[in-house]
Order: sequence, then C-alpha cells, then structure tokens
Amino acid sequence: MGRVFSVSANGVKEPKVQNGRRRHTVAEAEAAVCGGAEGEQAKSATAMKLRESGLSSRIPLFQHLPQYVKIVEVGARDGLQNEKTHVPTVVKVELIERLAEAGLPVVEATSFVSPKWIPQLADHTEVLRALRFGGDTRYPVLTPNLKGFERAVQAGAKEVAVFAAASESFSKSNINCSIVESLERYSAVCRAAKSAGIPVRGYVSCVVGCPIEGAVAPEKVAEVAEKLYNMGCYEISLGDTIGVGTPGCVVPMLEAVAKRVPTARLAVHFHDTYGQALGNILVALQMGINVVDSSVAGLGGCPYAKGASGNVATEDVVYMLNGLGIKTNVNIEKVIEAAKFISQHVGKRPVSKVTQAVRGSELESRL
Ligand SMILES: [Zn+2]
Repeated sequence: MGRVFSVSANGVKEPKVQNGRRRHTVAEAEAAVCGGAEGEQAKSATAMKLRESGLSSRIPLFQHLPQYVKIVEVGARDGLQNEKTHVPTVVKVELIERLAEAGLPVVEATSFVSPKWIPQLADHTEVLRALRFGGDTRYPVLTPNLKGFERAVQAGAKEVAVFAAASESFSKSNINCSIVESLERYSAVCRAAKSAGIPVRGYVSCVVGCPIEGAVAPEKVAEVAEKLYNMGCYEISLGDTIGVGTPGCVVPMLEAVAKRVPTARLAVHFHDTYGQALGNILVALQMGINVVDSSVAGLGGCPYAKGASGNVATEDVVYMLNGLGIKTNVNIEKVIEAAKFISQHVGKRPVSKVTQAVRGSELESRL
C-alpha cells in the first residue's frame, strides 16, 4: 500500500515516518481528494483553505449548504441503549467528557426512562451527577414523562428531550402508548420545563419507515413535528430510526415538514442500516437544515436488523463536512480517539469507515 494515513493531534502536523513508511494525517486524506497533482503540503494547505472559505460560495450545486453545522452527539444515549454489553458508569462519563473535549456542542448524556425498559441506562442519575458542566457543551437527557423530567432536573439536567413517533404501531411497541397519549405527556413536560427555564428538544422517530407499518406518510411526520414545535420544543429532530431511507423519500418528507416547522428548527437523525446516511444528510443540508445527530463510532446497532449498522458515525459526518468546507468546530482526531476508547469497552470494532481507515493504517504502519 503506497499511502498510509494516520491521526495527529491537530490534524495538520507533518506526516511521520515509521518503519520506513510515510504516515499521513486525516487532514491530508481529506485534501488528497481535492489536491490533484499538488504536493503533500499543498494538499494539506488546500484542505485548510477549503475549511476556511467554504465550498458553497464557489460551487453552484452547493450554494444552499450552510456555513456551519451543529452536530448533536447521541452515542452515550441512543448508541449505548442499543448495545448489549454493560458499560460501567465511569466509562460512560469518560466518553461524554472526551466528546465534549472534542468540541461537540451538544452531547446527549443519558435517558431517564425506567431501567425496566432500558437497563443499559439505569445509572442515569449517577452519570449526570458525575458530569462537570463546565465549558460550552450542553448535555440534554431523554425524559419520557413528567416523573422522568422531575428526576432528571433533580439530578442536575439543564436540558431535556422528548421522544415521539410518526408511526402509531411503533409508538405503541416502543413507548407503550398511542401518539396522542405520548404528545399529552410531552405537553406536560414542556409546561414544567418552561416554568423551570429548561429547553426541550423533540424527537420524531420512524420518519420514513416503520419496522411494523412499512412506509410512513410525510404528512404524518409533519403533523407530529408541528405538534412538538407548537408545544414548545425548540428543535425537532427527524429520525430515520431503522435506517431505510434514501434521498428519494427523505426529500419529500423534509419538504412536508418544512411547510409546518421552520427549517432553522429542524435536525436530522439518520441511521446507516443500508449505508444511506451520508447521502441523506447531504440532501438535508442542501435543503437548509444545519443540525445533524450522530453517534461516535456508529454506536447503536439496529434492533430490527441483526448485525446492521446503527446511527451514522460522528467521525464519518465530520469527515464529509470538513470536505465540504463546512465548520463544525469538532476535532475529528479526538472523536476517533473517543471512538476507539468506547469500542474497546463495548467489545467490538467501530463501524465507522473513518475510524476503520485510521485503524487500518495504524496497523499497517506497525508491520
Ligand atoms: Zn438513533
């Protein structure tokens, strides 16, 4: 293999020579695709320039891309709740702190759903109490109802999230109530949160497909999203929970929702079950959405497709956004280190392409 890529602390260091092989940084990997016949240093400089200027001003196809994308890291909650391995509290806390350290502006910390339903997150109170709320990172937690909200606030939560579905059958099987009942519960959470000055984020799951009902109508997604927005959720995250969507159905869904909720209040949450997540994210960005949920190391898996990928990996999203010259303020090298750290603790290889590529090059350089 001629080129060997590796991680550096800041992503723009000089390549290292190890065992006679020249190692390259992630930044150079990013630049290599744009650099043509330029030299190595020029390629690295090209990547830096693209990040500074933004491609969107130069390429008509990208003219609607945002300059900045907020990444909402969901690995410690959405990811770990779907992993079978028990992860100790101390490891969860270290993961969350590593992700905050990597520059992620929002790191969802845990869920105050009953341990009966999600035993993986039974230590929600301990996790929240152990977190140091320094810096700019926010740590929302999932709250299923008013009781969960009160417990979360007692444990120190400063932001919460509620979780609705666009599919009636999924709502009943996943959270044990109809969509209408769930919205009544969330309305009570929103009222209590408003008087406590706590922001509430709303999720809509199964936005293009449901494991029980199949295809989900865009109108239904729009209706649930609008209700969450009207009850006070400051942001609505639209989730392809089973990762079946392609741009072919994602675009009509987003168009329907955007008629009822301002695009600036929407986020997208894709799972990579069929390898479509990055394509879906790109079209969502082109439609003006600039908040993307993702999970370090692609944690999560898919409960409806054994062995399939879970949430789109944070490091894969950041790599694409870097390539597009879109700012995230996230240090990809630190995310990769966090991905390796948590993957060891859940006992599996990271599913993210970026971390696999970096690990592969590190192994090769040791040969
Ligand atoms: Zn998810």
